[in-house]
Amino acid sequence: MKKINIILALLTISLMLAACGKNGVEAVNINSYSNKNGFLNFSSDVAESPEGYYVLSKDLRNGNFLTYIDKEKDKSTILCSKINCAHTFEKVPDDCDAYLGTVLQGSLNYYNGYIYYIAYNKDNYKCSLYKVSFDGSEHEKIFDLGTAPDMSNIYYSYVVTDSCVFYSAAIGVSGEKNAAKLNRYIFDNSKIETVYNYEGDKAEIFDLKMCKDKVFFRQSVGNERLKSELYEWDIAGQRANKIAEGICSYTLKADEKLAYWKAFDGIYEIPMTTGNTAENIVENEEKIFTCDEDTMLGFIASSNSDYYLYNMINTSYKKDTDIYIGNIKEGRIITKLYVNKEDYMMPLYVGSDKLIVDVYGKDGRYCGYSEIDNGQLSDEIINMGIIR
Ligand SMILES: [Zn+2]
Repeated sequence: MKKINIILALLTISLMLAACGKNGVEAVNINSYSNKNGFLNFSSDVAESPEGYYVLSKDLRNGNFLTYIDKEKDKSTILCSKINCAHTFEKVPDDCDAYLGTVLQGSLNYYNGYIYYIAYNKDNYKCSLYKVSFDGSEHEKIFDLGTAPDMSNIYYSYVVTDSCVFYSAAIGVSGEKNAAKLNRYIFDNSKIETVYNYEGDKAEIFDLKMCKDKVFFRQSVGNERLKSELYEWDIAGQRANKIAEGICSYTLKADEKLAYWKAFDGIYEIPMTTGNTAENIVENEEKIFTCDEDTMLGFIASSNSDYYLYNMINTSYKKDTDIYIGNIKEGRIITKLYVNKEDYMMPLYVGSDKLIVDVYGKDGRYCGYSEIDNGQLSDEIINMGIIR
């Protein structure tokens, strides 16, 4: 299966080179912002719109359907506009607006009135990008990203813009050189171009985010996702700049700052607009947090003007309850929300006003949230009652 993939990819590239200019990439004007503040798997099954949160849930057959949490009403609903549809949590019919089929983990995104996701396409055995309108009424397949020999072994990352979709696949290859690619699918002509690629042992490109004319991504060699290299790809200049090494996570902040967590070192912030080169990155980066024994590596997310860290490994291992989400201000953690306080809590997504969590407790599994007020996380977890 993999050989066929490589042959197809080479064929695509040679066709593309024949059709386009010198470097095989067409100029496209882009002005977009995309930063998914998911924890775990570099992403999450939550997408945020200005009005609410879309959460991927599972019905009892393990099919995925969309639920919606309204920011104002604090109410969750199944995202279906059909009045007579018998969508219940026990069984969501295939023709229900909210039903999405087999969705790849972490692939839910919101852009400009639509929720995007990657699902297994039963018609051609490929992974395809789909979109559904904010109220669930319109469904559309956009394009096929590639084959999926093993659903559990593939991770697609992508960002949507007005003119194209940038995407990459991390396939978990075994001990051999492979080419990792940053591709884009152009809406106008339905073409797929490879804009950047590199070869390496178990090479992967993943964790795509975007601000204006730059696509940020992480690149790993030898499957070291928690010690990856952070790059920006300048769309106009068509070149990749390496920003940092040894990165376990990064986030883009609304004020055009970029923050990255260097494992076992600290969290650094840098303006996104400096036209980064190896020299000025060192000059311009500012250390905003220094790792201690409890925060060696983990995930960082941003909300409005605030940063949140989720520590994954501490060296002291005092007790399980040392795992927490904390908000960083002026170089220190000002409040902590412990994930093992009473019930076990899996943090999913940091939004503009809420932290969305998955809770495994005495009352079963449910989706909940903690309010974010003035940058601080509240202690109380509101049960949204979605079975996932
Ligand atoms: Zn329905």
